[in-house]
Amino acid sequence: MKKVAIKRVLLLGGVTDALAIARTLGPQHIYSLAGVGRVPTDLRCEVRVGGFGGVDGLANFVQQTGIDLILDATHPYAAQMSQNAVMAAKLTGVPCWALRRPAWQPGPDDDWREVADWAELIAALAPFQRPLFTLGREPLQHLHEIPAHQFWTLRALDIYPGNERCEVIGARGPFRLEDERELFETRNIDVLISKNSGSTATEPKLEVARERGMPVLVLKRPVLPEADQAFWSVGEVLDALRDVG
Ligand code: NAP
Repeated sequence: MKKVAIKRVLLLGGVTDALAIARTLGPQHIYSLAGVGRVPTDLRCEVRVGGFGGVDGLANFVQQTGIDLILDATHPYAAQMSQNAVMAAKLTGVPCWALRRPAWQPGPDDDWREVADWAELIAALAPFQRPLFTLGREPLQHLHEIPAHQFWTLRALDIYPGNERCEVIGARGPFRLEDERELFETRNIDVLISKNSGSTATEPKLEVARERGMPVLVLKRPVLPEADQAFWSVGEVLDALRDVG
């Protein structure tokens, strides 16, 4: 295969897989983060933090910094950034590759109930009393809506104030099976709420729900745009980057 030189990659990240790719990149490449999580300080590539200012801002950035490949390795639910990446690529004529993490699949003993949005989620949650939310910060906006029969445990990257019907735990994966078991046990969790991130780092909670015969309310994945090339694992991305030189 004829090698095409890629001089400068803009890697859009914010998840463990993206960081694994960033660790392989040399100083001419740029790793971009939204600024919601930790910023690594031990990478050889350049790290930039914060939004670009929409599609036009991203397209300008790509042109001004001489990027010749946009690599979207954002979280599967970061649909806006993925959309912007594909649109900016079209505007600038630079290719956009995407790492699309495969979704988790329910096993025969799983009771997964897919919900499309917050309204469907709240309706599906009505029969339960002790939900564990693992959706990030979104539920924080709804703490005043918690029904009297429920006590929510909400796990996010950082600790936030809860209220008399909600406790917020700050914790970052990867999570260990035995710790997840203890969390469910001590908090008497009766339903799990999760995105379908497909990440091995957060998968043990699903195993615990399975062991306990507990339902999981799964927030439907957003539809992501078609990139010039899609990959399904970090290894595939690294192979492709090697192939292009
Ligand atoms: P989003 O809704 O798709 O993006 C919102 C805005 O944040 C984008 O329009 C962009 O701002 C900025 N942004 C997002 N990713 C960026 C990046 N890598 N570099 C620079 N700017 C970025 O994203 P989100 O769901 O809020 O997630 C934010 C970040 O957290 C993403 O990078 C994602 O990988 C990571 N993350 C998300 C989740 C999740 O569940 N959504 C979970 C774990 C990690 P401008 O339009 O101004 O450029």
